[in-house]
Amino acid sequence: MTARIIDGKILSEKLRATVAESVVAFVGATGAAPGLAVVLVGDDPASAVYVASKGRQTVAAGMRSYEHRLPADTAESDLLALIARLNADDAVDGILVQLPLPRHLDTGRVVAAIDPRKDVDGLHVENAGRLASGQPGLVPCTPYGAMIMLDSVLDRLAGLDAVVVGRSTLVGRPMAQLLLRADCTVTIAHSRTRDLAAVCRRADILVAAVGRPKMIAGDWIKPGATVIDVGINRVPAPEKGEGKTRLVGDVDFDTAVAVAGAITPVPGGVGLMTVATLLANTLIAAHRRRGLAAPP
Ligand code: NDP
Repeated sequence: MTARIIDGKILSEKLRATVAESVVAFVGATGAAPGLAVVLVGDDPASAVYVASKGRQTVAAGMRSYEHRLPADTAESDLLALIARLNADDAVDGILVQLPLPRHLDTGRVVAAIDPRKDVDGLHVENAGRLASGQPGLVPCTPYGAMIMLDSVLDRLAGLDAVVVGRSTLVGRPMAQLLLRADCTVTIAHSRTRDLAAVCRRADILVAAVGRPKMIAGDWIKPGATVIDVGINRVPAPEKGEGKTRLVGDVDFDTAVAVAGAITPVPGGVGLMTVATLLANTLIAAHRRRGLAAPP
């Protein structure tokens, strides 16, 4: 038996198409397209690729994209001043500051400066608190996308045992909160967890958000489990030529696919959902700011 592949390409295209439809209705109702501002500080090549792709997909969904590229040595006060301007700009519904920031900038202070109603990355402490206390807010894009992937293969999440490996504020913690909201019985594992393999083997839903290539092999997985691999790790790929690399997840796909019931690939899985859910969050933020009911 091999697992069903949860295809991030198909699911993200579907979500982007739904968002684009809702944007048309939003423009019809308000006369303005939702706007997303993305701020990139420095010249990290991977971040530049992400930002360009976000801009393209924002425009393709019928929204306005505002890109702000700042030099790597930007003073924190200048970055905070830009965020203040974007907070006050009525054309901007969502603000995303591309992470990681250069070391001299305090990520916590920068994220805290974003208006929580425009915090489409869902990282502001107000949105984290809203998620933890079961109130509507903006949910971090990657876990949001992972939940859509789970819903695509599972009729019912209630009562299932879910294990999230990783407890970052960006992925692990909000993922666990979303699973709890869906009535799963949730375990959060991390670097201090004892007998991680045994903990993982209990999971009907296993989410790996660790950042360690292929750490979770097939013999850590309960037969038939649904596996969401959030990890994106670049590893050497000598088979492709000298100095070449490729992306792998935190799950050892080749052994896991023989045991799991459904699994996300890397690449082609969760990563593709993240921009689509960013657009969905921007649309939600645009509705809420105008007192309109957000699309489901
Ligand atoms: P962090 O480094 O912030 O967190 C990693 C977590 O894994 C920590 O909680 C850490 O535990 C835990 N961990 C580390 N080593 C082990 C171990 N040996 N056993 C058990 N737990 C361990 O990473 P992120 O959450 O930001 O990202 C995780 C992965 O997801 C990365 O590969 C990243 O590239 C990827 N990612 C993918 C995205 C996407 O769109 N698909 C978006 C964001 C991230 P402790 O807290 O105890 O240190």
